[in-house]
Amino acid sequence: MNKRFFVAILAIMITGTALAQKQIKSWNKNVVIAHRGAWKTQSLPENSIASLKEAIRIGCFGSEFDVQFTKDNVAVVNHNGDFLGKDIATSTYQELVDYKKLSNGESIPTLVEYLKAGMKQKKTKLILEIKPQKTQEREEALTKAVIATVNELKAAPWIEYITFSHFIGKYVIANVPGARVSYLNGELEPAKLKEQGFYGLDYHQNVFKKNPDWIKQAKDLGLIINVWTVNAEKDMEGLLAQKVDYITTNEPELLFKTIKK
Ligand code: MG
Repeated sequence: MNKRFFVAILAIMITGTALAQKQIKSWNKNVVIAHRGAWKTQSLPENSIASLKEAIRIGCFGSEFDVQFTKDNVAVVNHNGDFLGKDIATSTYQELVDYKKLSNGESIPTLVEYLKAGMKQKKTKLILEIKPQKTQEREEALTKAVIATVNELKAAPWIEYITFSHFIGKYVIANVPGARVSYLNGELEPAKLKEQGFYGLDYHQNVFKKNPDWIKQAKDLGLIINVWTVNAEKDMEGLLAQKVDYITTNEPELLFKTIKK
């Protein structure tokens, strides 16, 4: 190989690696993940773009949100299967927009709108929960739509995936090289998750109370540990002492205060 060409390629590789590292270094270094955004203190609607912006403003490592699927295949951000009483899976996106607005005047956010809002910064990660659907076919269709949107927007560096659906988790692992996928449902031991390519376990705090050795097992396996939904100071203190990686909470401000103690 021509020597000058080789040196040029090497320089590009080193610059590329440096840039990638720089990007990783920009994320906030704390354990705080705001559950459905930071909504409580400012009385914002959960899963609104306003609650995402507030989580970013207060400096959370991550802001969690839930993705559902309309009848006409639009990925939207909402926790329940219904939007303020209207079933999402059997409604079109426009029907949901026409039906009601969130209490702060926002329409139900689309995944595209939500990701675009989150991608205006590089400090708070977007913790994307793909919600289980009524059939496996719809779960696959939603997951494909989510992956396509993330690819189109080049949002991958911002995203960590979480899901209660084992099918969805495995689908993302199989189809998105390098995706960080954590499992929410709590029944699988750390070794099983590792075997299946999961990035971590994101389990309810009671799961760790019932299986006190799972935190050590997960750490030994190099799995990331996230715990939900931890709102009491005493529970936060216990988990901080056990050095879990992330704590998902409706009280991000309280968690920041607890960390400082
Ligand atoms: Mg969620």
